[in-house]
Amino acid sequence: MYKGVLRKKYMVEKMKERLKDVHMKTNLRKSGIKIAGDVREVDITERKKAEESLRDAEEKAKSIFEKANDGIVYLSKFGEILDVNEKALEIFGGTKNELLGKHFTRLNIFSIKDIPTLLGNLKKIISGKDALMNTQIKNKKGREFFLECSASLIKKNGKISNIIAIIRDITERKQAEAVLKESEKKYRTLVENIPQKIFLKDRNSVYISCNENYAWDLKIKADEIAGKTDYEFYPKKLAEKYRADDKRVMKSGKIEDIEEEYIPDGEKTFVHTIKVPVKGERGNVIGMLGIFWDITEKRKAENEIQKGKEKWTSLTENTDDIIMIVDDKGVIQYINKTLGNYTPEKTVGTPIYNYVPKEQASTMMKHLEKVFKTSEADSYGISSNIPKVGTVWFNTKVVPIKNGKKIKDVIMISANVTKRRIIEENLKKSEEKFRNMVETTSDCIWEVDKNGVYTYVSPKIKDILGYEPEEIVGKPQFDFMPKDEVKKIVNFFKKIKKNRKPFASLENWNVHKNGTRVLLETSGVPLLDERGNLIGYRGIGRNITERKRMEEKIEHTTMGYLQQSEEIEKLKSLDKEKDEFLNLMTHELRTPLTSIIGMTEILLSKKLDGLTNEQSKSLNIVLDESMHLKKIINRILTVVRLEKGKIEIEMKPLDISNIIEATVKSLKSMADERDINIALEVPEKLPLVKADKGYVVEVLNNLIDNAIKFSPRKSEIIVSAGVKGKHVLIKVKDNGIGIDEKSKPHIFEKFYQSDMSISKMYGGTGLGLYACKLIIQKMKGDSGFTSSVGKGSTFYFSLPISKIKRGEV
Ligand code: ADP
Repeated sequence: MYKGVLRKKYMVEKMKERLKDVHMKTNLRKSGIKIAGDVREVDITERKKAEESLRDAEEKAKSIFEKANDGIVYLSKFGEILDVNEKALEIFGGTKNELLGKHFTRLNIFSIKDIPTLLGNLKKIISGKDALMNTQIKNKKGREFFLECSASLIKKNGKISNIIAIIRDITERKQAEAVLKESEKKYRTLVENIPQKIFLKDRNSVYISCNENYAWDLKIKADEIAGKTDYEFYPKKLAEKYRADDKRVMKSGKIEDIEEEYIPDGEKTFVHTIKVPVKGERGNVIGMLGIFWDITEKRKAENEIQKGKEKWTSLTENTDDIIMIVDDKGVIQYINKTLGNYTPEKTVGTPIYNYVPKEQASTMMKHLEKVFKTSEADSYGISSNIPKVGTVWFNTKVVPIKNGKKIKDVIMISANVTKRRIIEENLKKSEEKFRNMVETTSDCIWEVDKNGVYTYVSPKIKDILGYEPEEIVGKPQFDFMPKDEVKKIVNFFKKIKKNRKPFASLENWNVHKNGTRVLLETSGVPLLDERGNLIGYRGIGRNITERKRMEEKIEHTTMGYLQQSEEIEKLKSLDKEKDEFLNLMTHELRTPLTSIIGMTEILLSKKLDGLTNEQSKSLNIVLDESMHLKKIINRILTVVRLEKGKIEIEMKPLDISNIIEATVKSLKSMADERDINIALEVPEKLPLVKADKGYVVEVLNNLIDNAIKFSPRKSEIIVSAGVKGKHVLIKVKDNGIGIDEKSKPHIFEKFYQSDMSISKMYGGTGLGLYACKLIIQKMKGDSGFTSSVGKGSTFYFSLPISKIKRGEV
């Protein structure tokens, strides 16, 4: 704009000079004066040429005059119009004829109030000075113009000749100026109202003015700022800093952008300041314009962003996790790591499902779709085959990135859980193994907390106590013990809990669901937390009820055996003593007795002279008693030998009828003494028996002897025999006193005598029946009796029938 104006000015000056020259020359020529340097007089051709070129120049000048962009008016020194160009005609709005010869003030285009100024300027021009003025006209056609007029004098031969006036149409410029003025007003309003603070300082950093907004901050009115400095508003340090900035900007003459501290109301904020050096007309810096605005919030936000960025960077760079940003098509937008061959350059821009096996891919995409659909975070586990690394297991969390309402991308955070998974799998396997063991073992595994409340029992408990594990867990262990046991176990637990000791083979009674007592053999170890505090016990219980019972039984039996063997030992030693006694009796008694009997018999048989009746009677008594004694001694010896198995039995075929007959005969005198008849009921042709004759006789003797002893006088004894199966059965029946029920079981026992008085009376030993039984047994026969008190008894024995028949012997 400025340059444009300058150029125009220059052009106008040039044109004026030219016109002056042309005009002068034309006039000179008209008056026949030759112009030096213009035409060469000597040569006519030259002159002609000169004339032509002159004409040419005139034409040129004329055309410049006519076609000039500015209006050009020639005036006489009095102000009459001599000539006008086309532009001037256009401005004035008339024809040449209408204008030429008229005084310029009479053109009826100027406002009356401007006329004096116009005339004043005319005077000025004539006095030799240039004149420049702006004026407003309304031309003949009614159009309004703003004009800038400059006029100067044209002198001819040093005398004032004419005046040339250049008239420029500045209507547009004026209008623009008006608009500008209007807009300047607006700008001022803007300056006053924009949130930015604006101030103006002079070269010495002294405030000249500021907008209301800034004044408000400083708690003054805008017109109060003039003459003040920053020292009056800010802490010294800050004011100094502002001044230094001002100086620098004014010295360099360059605009500066400064972000700096600012303290309105004592509160520290941050501002962005633009300091602009203000230049004077000569281009020298005369002051400084400042405009600044609060960027505290922006800074905060930036800080936040920065922090966020730092966080993100540190997170993504330092984490072991793989962090990816993935769009809704599953395409990786960002990845923080290189995995094996997969560098970020290779992976970014490719779909994520390329990196997992097919069956996993669909799982992964399902989860991704879900996040995009629900905008809620999700997670899943997945494996991937990474070249150079192998199979890697990931636990991935998918978090939507919400931008407004729509989700464009998600963040996927994948933790490598391969190691953990291997450990977990191993753990699972070993857990399974142990579970199997726990659940199949015949023992019950249990866990209690520190209060003795069951926290676990293995299913085996059902077999042991009849309860399902669910019926037990949550209840104190004491609930399943008999009352007397609880006290014992409570005390026990108190002790081991205190020292956190393990225990083993604790015998502990429990009660089965069905009410029976169950003895458990329990071992346990304390369970401790990381800090070593007791949290409970874990152990194993075994049902030992049955074992215990067996043990007790064995113990009992062993005791019994021990006792018995002791008794046996005792008996043995007794037996030994008895043997010794019997031996003694046999040898020390029988030998002298044999002599007594022999001598007595000799004495009686020979009827020695001098033996009175009285004496021989006494000798008979000695003989009888000795014989009885001998019988007793023999019986004792028989029994002892039988018991010791030292007896020799000779089994031969025997005619039992003969033996019975002979025996009864031998006892006849004894029966006769008591008037007892012994009847024989023995069939003639009995089969032969296999037995030892001497012993059979002894048994028969014994039974018939007893029958006589326990029968009343004048009674009858029947001795009978007959075949029974493979045996011959021999019976001795009496009508005697009989045997009471109490005595019956003991009749065959050693030394037994049912009635002491009767035994005493008959002088028995209680060894007879015992000896009989042993003898019959030896001969593979059987013995027994039937009896009823007061009616009589029947004693019987059997002997095996011999294979050898009668007549074969
Ligand atoms: P003892 O040698 O003392 O007779 P035994 O062994 O022959 O001993 O008999 C035992 C006991 O059995 C006798 O003391 C007697 O009490 C009873 N007894 C034996 N035979 C008869 C019988 N025929 N009638 C009644 N009691 C008998």
